[in-house]
Amino acid sequence: MEIAPGIHRIECRFGGNRMAYVHLFVGTEAVLLMDTCCAHNPHQDILPYMAQIGITPDRLTYIVISHSDLDHQGGCQPMKEAAPQAILLCHNLDRPWVEDTEALIAGRYMQFDTDHGYETSEETKQAFRHDTLSHVMDMTVEGGEHFRLSPDWYIELIHTPGHTWGHLALYDPRSKTMAANEAALWSSILDTDWNPALPPTYCYVDTYLSTIARLLSMDIETYSPAHWPVQRGTEVSDFLRESRNYCLHVESRLLTFAQEHGPFTLKEAVLQLGSQLGCWPDDSNDMLTFPFSGNLNRLTQRGLLSSGRSATGLMEWRSL
Ligand SMILES: [Zn+2]
Repeated sequence: MEIAPGIHRIECRFGGNRMAYVHLFVGTEAVLLMDTCCAHNPHQDILPYMAQIGITPDRLTYIVISHSDLDHQGGCQPMKEAAPQAILLCHNLDRPWVEDTEALIAGRYMQFDTDHGYETSEETKQAFRHDTLSHVMDMTVEGGEHFRLSPDWYIELIHTPGHTWGHLALYDPRSKTMAANEAALWSSILDTDWNPALPPTYCYVDTYLSTIARLLSMDIETYSPAHWPVQRGTEVSDFLRESRNYCLHVESRLLTFAQEHGPFTLKEAVLQLGSQLGCWPDDSNDMLTFPFSGNLNRLTQRGLLSSGRSATGLMEWRSL
């Protein structure tokens, strides 16, 4: 659907009941696609949508990857094959994981294995590989770049870290539209029926809160995120405030938990608090490792917790 003049929001389905919205900006001089979803989505969703609105792949000028995650970068290779002239780019900070599926799996999806006692099975790793066909970048950016899509239409890349270090959103000042992707993650990530599918996977809390503050200060009329409905008017600041408040709520729950318990591991915190922080399916509770570790690191930096090692060598935290 066209959410503002020249800005299309394309639904891409994956993983049974999940979807991610990618954005297509159509100007007279250039066409820009933001995100490619998973490996099968260019042929299943993106290219058919483009055909429907009369945009042949040879008109695609840029493919911007918003951040390093399989449901945003997984279709890079098939999209680049369909549009080899398109310049493929992402933020410099996310380049290592966007370009290399094995680095993404080891660095992002297995980051809680060694220090926190989780185990990523071979079957899960194979599923990640199946969904993610990465491709080298033609260039990297830092945020603040402008793309000229028509003689009188420029859009701007906004660096919005928090979910990843190099997360990018795209702002169109003409229609005051933000293609926001996962700059703010609300209180859960939603499925195709708008029910909670997983916890909000913010990771780096200081930058996440700064990103939300920056977005709150911008003039945004239409806010189009990757896994949530389009927000318009006053809904935009409601969505952003809910994202910030949820993150701060999790942080205060973790601090209380630390004060009431002895030393605890990440896994213990997820087991004890998981079901109280949202109503996604129980098997998604382990995804709380991402926000919890972000909040626990911040509480440690603020001097409210200390971190060390348990007798079995896992990381643990205690109240100070
Ligand atoms: Zn996503």
